[in-house]
Amino acid sequence: MSHRLEKLRQRLVESELEAILISQGENRRYLSGFTGSAGFLLISQKSAILATDFRYVEQAQSQAADFDIAQIEGELPNWFPDLASSLGAKRIGFEANDLSFSTYRQLVATAGEKELVPTEEIVESLRAIKDEEELELITRAVELADAAFEEVAPMIHPGMKEKEVAWELEKLLRERGSETVPFDLIVASGPNSTLPHARPSDRVLLPGEPVVIDIGARFQGYCSDLSRTFCLGNEDKTFGKIYDLVLGAQLTAIATIEARMSGEEADALARTVIEQGGYGEAFGHGLGHGVGLAPHEQPRLGRGSSTTLADGMVFTIEPGIYIKGWGGVRVEDMVVIESGRARVLSKAKKID
Ligand code: ZN
Repeated sequence: MSHRLEKLRQRLVESELEAILISQGENRRYLSGFTGSAGFLLISQKSAILATDFRYVEQAQSQAADFDIAQIEGELPNWFPDLASSLGAKRIGFEANDLSFSTYRQLVATAGEKELVPTEEIVESLRAIKDEEELELITRAVELADAAFEEVAPMIHPGMKEKEVAWELEKLLRERGSETVPFDLIVASGPNSTLPHARPSDRVLLPGEPVVIDIGARFQGYCSDLSRTFCLGNEDKTFGKIYDLVLGAQLTAIATIEARMSGEEADALARTVIEQGGYGEAFGHGLGHGVGLAPHEQPRLGRGSSTTLADGMVFTIEPGIYIKGWGGVRVEDMVVIESGRARVLSKAKKID
């Protein structure tokens, strides 16, 4: 973890901050190794303090070797002023995207001489580049999702409810070693599949309709994300055409994405294929998103994303086409950028 702290300290220098208060859960875990669900980090050039309540002190001591553990009680005003003063820091950053307005007000009320500076995405941008250990854990999560899909897919038959399929997938993920799944699994059939974030319902799978399955596993905190679309029984003409277009767009993006592109440029690689096929309007979301300790994190691949892709980034490539009344098709793999190009991590079979 100490190399992560070093990088953060470099960012503090660049942002002219003497210290930073970390409240966001995944950021806390990323920097300290502490997996508990409550606590704050206060980090300066010389100090690294993990402040948590009595429930977690022992766990914090064993997990966060680079940190001094401070036992705190109650709300921020009770402990923040003294702790911050002990660092001697005047300009202190906080995570503007995470801190609630009421906590912020408490913080300001207790700040005294200290200047509280809103920061955005400092740790998130560090997290976007995975180290070897993280890539290994992500690969394990990817393998769990691949295996669950491959094992359940042959059991899926017309007459099953979406919910039943989702439960079979979740059971298998958990039995094979996934922690709590990182998001509600999606099994969406026929018209339900037009909703990119559909919830599994009591709808019965019928032959000839598209079925979108979107699942993820979690291994030692790290997530995976996988989508496949197929058709039970004979597919109609539309399915073949739409599926080929989506898969073509996905394979094009995988083959041509390069480090140093922006998230918007990467998105355009797939979007152009779908637009040229006449379905540009029906691809209503971005091409992909980073995956790590959170199932959705940096980088974002989509219109308006200026994030520069770089070696070590892990993200999804998941174009989709959604047609009202008919259904949707989405194909999603996870990739890692290595030596400037995308290497595909997901191995679950797709229709080709
Ligand atoms: Zn996704």
